[in-house]
Amino acid sequence: MIFELPEVETIVRNVDRNLKNQVVQEVDVRIQGRKALALVKWALALKGKKLMQARRRGAHIILDFSDGQSLLANLETDKQLACVPSNSVLSEQTQVVLKFQNIQRELRFNDVSKFSFLKLLDSRSIESVAPIKNLGHEPLQISVKDFQDTLAKWPQRQVKNLLMDQSVIVGIGAMYADEVLFRAKIHPSEKVKDIPFPRMDKLHHAIYHVLELAITHGQTPLTDGADERVKPERFQSTLQVYGREGQVCVRCKKASIQKIKISQKISYVCPYCQPLREK
Ligand SMILES: [Zn+2]
Repeated sequence: MIFELPEVETIVRNVDRNLKNQVVQEVDVRIQGRKALALVKWALALKGKKLMQARRRGAHIILDFSDGQSLLANLETDKQLACVPSNSVLSEQTQVVLKFQNIQRELRFNDVSKFSFLKLLDSRSIESVAPIKNLGHEPLQISVKDFQDTLAKWPQRQVKNLLMDQSVIVGIGAMYADEVLFRAKIHPSEKVKDIPFPRMDKLHHAIYHVLELAITHGQTPLTDGADERVKPERFQSTLQVYGREGQVCVRCKKASIQKIKISQKISYVCPYCQPLREK
């Protein structure tokens, strides 16, 4: 599964909606051994703290707690962090459980050694720590003017490559970059300087639309509404071009989706909707 911004945003919104302003009553550490316990030292420090908010910066999850402390987490997969009803079955991989006062829902951390980043930090220092300080604009918040000004700084770069550059704009990986460019009718190897203004406007809109659509799908509750874990197939149901090699284009119905290689990287395009305009 490809893990991109919508998946992380879905987890963050679920945690924020369910656990905001709740106080950690109990910390259940389910691993043993000195080395293992050192991995989860942060958890014990959270007892009695209130979760002020859950937020996201790029693909990083930030849980702000009272007393000026924030837990910064970067997941490799969606299965590592789950906000679930307290009576749901515990997984063998669950190593830390944060239980909250007055609420029958808990936060479970699975396979903590597999987090690419998991640390409790001073909230004031979050913006200046290594994974966060180098991040570019947030794609759901950037204005169309800032978006154009930002891209215009790299007129010679290929647009897909630039969209995936986390120091320019965060959270767009190969899958959603293809979706966004398909909707804006731009070829992935088009240079920024060759994209006319109206198309740039469409591109900005497409980013917001594609990401929000995936987030909305990802949040659709299951039948009983109890388990709100991320379901990858829900995100994938929104895809119109990625992974659809050989299938007829859903928009023009005139061409088949092609899988092409640009600088050794795979892209999916409709040759009719996204012609590469030679300049
Ligand atoms: Zn097409």
